[in-house]
Amino acid sequence: DHDLRTADPEVYGIIGKEKERQYKSLELIASENFTSRAVMEAVGSCLTNKYSEGLPGKRYYGGNEHIDELETLCQQRALEAFHLDKEKWGVNVQPLSGSPANFAVYTAILKPHDRIMGLDLPHGGHLSHGFMTAKRRVSGTSIYFESMPYRLDESTGIVDYDMLEKTAILFRPKLIIAGASAYPRDFDYPRMRKIADAVGAFLMMDMAHISGLVAASVVADPFKYCDIVTTTTHKSLRGPRGGMIFFKKEQVLGVDLETSINNAVFPGLQGGPHNHTIGGLAVCLRHAQSPEFKTYQNKVVANCRALAKQLMDLGYSLVSGGSDNHLVLVDLRPLGLDGARVEKILDMASITLNKNSVPGDKSALVPGGIRIGSPAMTTRGFTEKEFKAIADFIHEGVQITLDAKRQAPGTKLQDFFKFIASPDFPLTDRVLD
Ligand code: PLP
Repeated sequence: DHDLRTADPEVYGIIGKEKERQYKSLELIASENFTSRAVMEAVGSCLTNKYSEGLPGKRYYGGNEHIDELETLCQQRALEAFHLDKEKWGVNVQPLSGSPANFAVYTAILKPHDRIMGLDLPHGGHLSHGFMTAKRRVSGTSIYFESMPYRLDESTGIVDYDMLEKTAILFRPKLIIAGASAYPRDFDYPRMRKIADAVGAFLMMDMAHISGLVAASVVADPFKYCDIVTTTTHKSLRGPRGGMIFFKKEQVLGVDLETSINNAVFPGLQGGPHNHTIGGLAVCLRHAQSPEFKTYQNKVVANCRALAKQLMDLGYSLVSGGSDNHLVLVDLRPLGLDGARVEKILDMASITLNKNSVPGDKSALVPGGIRIGSPAMTTRGFTEKEFKAIADFIHEGVQITLDAKRQAPGTKLQDFFKFIASPDFPLTDRVLD
């Protein structure tokens, strides 16, 4: 029984290279973070060896006394971290990740082909909220359910709640989904609750991106208005990769959410829970209740504001004109540039962010913006001063891209600019997380 280095030098070597990349680059992908050593230790533990289908105290396998203790502790901490009354709210900590958590909710409360409304992916929503294009039902969510996305008001970059209301009245969805992957503002939960009530729909919030901010109460609290709240655990919450589903412990629209959601996760969609992840998640949820965590989340928001301000001072146009949370969306189209080329140029300088659609984009293949997030570098100790410097670095990258674009045809730089937009260079729209 050898350690990794001896047992598999190849994988050991790849991990070493990835560690170095993470260490040396400016990590600005809004959905990523650096989890703690303690979380990593739990995730890399013997918990991975155990099968425990079922819930604490009701397992299909023996030998689960410690796993029961762990999962119960994780559930308790999850409710505490989000300031929830355990008489009124329950949680399932077994979803393997964010997309499976969302799909579990849909299968729990909907019948195949029931109608759903989530924010359109090109306007910041997530694939698993019902994404489809004119040609193709892309996400399983849009294959098995009938999806009518709502969108932003393109003139303000804010969710068009009036249009959502009008459409909901005609479409009569059974479920309305709040939450996004690339939306720099808070959702108007009271308004969405009203719309859901008017049409007899469930209201769910997918707080994947902002769950750390919600736990620290630095953004609005979705639990006050929603029936169900889902999340990933590895973004601003800074835990291991995983998912959670919170549900009201009551009948909503005739559905017992607790029973139907628990059954949808297992045996509906999953088998054995990933106990090593649940271990890491329990550790993360203990961190999430500390004063340091609150300070961290306040810094995430302050750093993002500093970044937004410097970008605007440099003349950039931000979708919605700023940010309330951990990310900004820069619209590069006024410069005659797209996000794909800028992402590539910045990547060469070890500045890691992603190209992203912005409202009004004509082509999903060459999106007009970039998404920049503050959680990861805030974990690395960056302050507002460094985030201002990040804006300057990004500006330099944009200038270099513009420079390349302006070169005379036939020059090396102009060839390079063409290459990074050619079919040889994969320009896929990856607004997926
Ligand atoms: N929901 C939102 C809002 C997301 O941004 C993501 C991101 O990736 C997911 C769900 C899906 O999570 P996962 O990638 O863990 O399936």
